[in-house]
Amino acid sequence: MMKRSFIPAKEPMLRALELAREAGEEGEVPVGAVIVCEGKIIAEGRNRREADKNALCHAEIEAIHNACRTLGGWRLWQCELYVTLEPCPMCAGAIINARIPQVVYGAADDKAGSCGSIVDLFELPYNHHPQVTAGFMQEEAAALLQDFFRRLREKRKAQKEQKRVFARETKE
Ligand SMILES: [Zn+2]
Repeated sequence: MMKRSFIPAKEPMLRALELAREAGEEGEVPVGAVIVCEGKIIAEGRNRREADKNALCHAEIEAIHNACRTLGGWRLWQCELYVTLEPCPMCAGAIINARIPQVVYGAADDKAGSCGSIVDLFELPYNHHPQVTAGFMQEEAAALLQDFFRRLREKRKAQKEQKRVFARETKE
């Protein structure tokens, strides 16, 4: 049997980027994800680690959670997951558990990426092997992340400077 060739669509990734931007505006690392079923976005998610004070609140986990609720089942075998950043080991594991056959990601993640960067969990002999499209619209996703971390560094620098001024003033 020949494998159905898969061509990623721009629209879901544009929506994932929008969700990432929303997260970034609220001080979260900007990552967004959507799940597509039969050409339609059926679930969304974005990073909410800071707001929820919870290490599990990654974009993909939220999107998978919502997709399972929408479809009323845990097997997402007919779905595609689009995410702006390469999934971490937790999310790659969730993707395997949810039986998602297609994953499309934007920017690679050399710190936690587990779909090729550090390890490729989808290549290991688990019971499910999602197909991956890497680097799809990666410029947009990477620019969002770079911009976020640059602003974070500037903010930290300004805070440090403020502390220094304060320390000097209280000494005088
Ligand atoms: Zn993750």
